[in-house]
Amino acid sequence: MPSSGFAIDSSFGFRNSVFSPRKRMDIETLILGPLETNTYVLHGDGGECWVIDPAGMDGGQLLDYLQRNRLSPTRVLLTHGHGDHIAGVPDLTRAFPTCRVCCPEGDAPMLPDPNLNLSALMGVSILVSSPDESLRFGQVLMFGQIEWTVLDTSGHTVGGASYYSRQMKTVFVGDALFSGSVGRTDIPGGSAGRLLKNIRLNLMSLDDETRVLCGHGPETTIGRERRANPFMKDFYKLKGPQAR
Ligand SMILES: [Zn+2]
Repeated sequence: MPSSGFAIDSSFGFRNSVFSPRKRMDIETLILGPLETNTYVLHGDGGECWVIDPAGMDGGQLLDYLQRNRLSPTRVLLTHGHGDHIAGVPDLTRAFPTCRVCCPEGDAPMLPDPNLNLSALMGVSILVSSPDESLRFGQVLMFGQIEWTVLDTSGHTVGGASYYSRQMKTVFVGDALFSGSVGRTDIPGGSAGRLLKNIRLNLMSLDDETRVLCGHGPETTIGRERRANPFMKDFYKLKGPQAR
């Protein structure tokens, strides 16, 4: 089970931030399900956690992890409505009934519809009831003192979002951006033009050192993708440096 533990402390250069060196926020990565989807567990010093994209057809591995670490999820954040990113929601909310499921509003109709969430194509039927909260782009969610902003990275799906914390210099991007690639758009609801525009406007505008946690595969940074991602390079080659 790969791990990418990360801690905020004074060594990360938050000299002017509101954080004391004692305040910590860790991110654990679990790779779950047949499509090897990244599920992220975000937690602080206490037992509260958020789960980003609970994957896995049975929630056993995720529930085991939460139980072993005495963590109790208060929010699920979905980056988008595809079946491999929502498959673990039913087991998670059964085990933690007060946990609120949050989905970008444009993708909310996908959750209870196996055709829209593409699980029917994989020969399974993934059904998640309507989210407790539909999120709007620009909305800010607080986890303790840490802000998470909902960014518009739609284009892989109709309403896909990323979750960005300036304080943690971290963004969860789902399937919008990958190390060296971008999300598929040749699927229902996909739009290559919209995805590339949103990546340029809302992700490439972040600081180079921003940690990018993807829906599949390894993590990367905004700077690395700006320099080396062929989709970004082609864009800048076509439009010139002012395109940034
Ligand atoms: Zn997807």
